[in-house]
Amino acid sequence: MLIEIKDLRKKYIMGEMEVEALRGVNLNISTNEFVSIMGPSGSGKSTLMNILGCLDTPSSGQYLFDSIDISSRTDDELSEIRNQKIGFIFQTFNLLPKLDALQNVELPLIYSGVEKHLRKDLAKKALKRLGLENRMNHKPNELSGGQRQRVAIARALVTNPGIILADEPTGNLDTKTGFEIMEIFKELHQEGNTIILITHEPEIAEQADRGIIIRDGLITKDALNTTIISPN
Ligand code: ADP
Ligand code: ADP
Repeated sequence: MLIEIKDLRKKYIMGEMEVEALRGVNLNISTNEFVSIMGPSGSGKSTLMNILGCLDTPSSGQYLFDSIDISSRTDDELSEIRNQKIGFIFQTFNLLPKLDALQNVELPLIYSGVEKHLRKDLAKKALKRLGLENRMNHKPNELSGGQRQRVAIARALVTNPGIILADEPTGNLDTKTGFEIMEIFKELHQEGNTIILITHEPEIAEQADRGIIIRDGLITKDALNTTIISPN
């Protein structure tokens, strides 16, 4: 099992106030699943995503990522796990504006200590894979939204992480471009990647194989998405 979560809770303490953002989440995700997570604003999606991505640790309960117990790791160990094993994709792309596409995609390779002469080739290969061979030297503000998100996907893939965590990846894109991005996720899934996707949009969520709904810090639905094929 790639992800094993048992009775996971997360509390935020702000002065006198205490918010329990996750209130006993149980969740298993296997390698090569394609899972969507939906839920209203404030239901705990970002909190869960931050923990899944080893950006934050639970207040109690267990999180095993690739058989590693995340709760007992130091910040340095967590950052190493993130750099090696997880690709992140965000609604706002999070590209560095002063760097061109190639330099943006090279960044995770710098963090994970890949030698300089190898970095450029790997980054070029990743951008080519996303159909951006003619945009490598463009800065983010010279690219469309869909192109920016494809640069971000190339950046997430360049270290070959195996798991992709995408937080509202189509939230800033028009419908057509959003579906194009979903086609890329489907291809990555077919190539063996595990994909976890947070979204507000049911049409996007139903593209995944499994749908999870979270409400008030608890998973209230977890089911396979089955396509209904009309008989005529
Ligand atoms: P989303 O669009 O995912 O619902 P939010 O607006 O809920 O995003 O949260 C954006 C960021 O702010 C997240 O990293 C979240 O952890 C943080 N956040 C949300 N609510 C609070 C709060 N009450 N106090 C401090 N930080 C918060
Ligand atoms: P979602 O992503 O579904 O909008 P969040 O995980 O951002 O939900 O938030 C869940 C709850 O936890 C909300 O009540 C939010 O205000 C609170 N929260 C999130 N992050 C923080 C934080 N850093 N500090 C305090 N409260 C937070």
